[in-house]
Amino acid sequence: MKISKIEHLGIAVKSIEEALPYYENVLGLKCYNIETVEDQKVRTAFLMVGETKIELLEPTSEESTIAKYIEKRGMGVHHVAFAIEDGVANALAECEAKEIKLIDKAPRPGAEQMMIAFLHPKSTAGVLTELCE
Ligand code: ZN
Repeated sequence: MKISKIEHLGIAVKSIEEALPYYENVLGLKCYNIETVEDQKVRTAFLMVGETKIELLEPTSEESTIAKYIEKRGMGVHHVAFAIEDGVANALAECEAKEIKLIDKAPRPGAEQMMIAFLHPKSTAGVLTELCE
């Protein structure tokens, strides 16, 4: 697979409204988009950092994997997302062939009209990894 950059870092927060002042008023970043991804039961806020983004993830339901993550491990860095130049489906096939445990067998719609898929942290040295295009 061909990775062009870190597309974004996903950060789990209890509340976007409570987290944003740190990113905007202290770090001087600007939130340019907030959207809800029903499928994943999260509300997301995006901020640009050079060519990369920060994605704040706020659970919209107790059932959200983000809610469970925060309950278990507290707020903090949740996943790293790589931009895949030659397609997420290709990358998944390659990962499967190399015996990487997949969370998503096929690309699915994520925030910002991207197609995404997650790799299991058990196979990625402990980091929940998102592939996106
Ligand atoms: Zn993400």
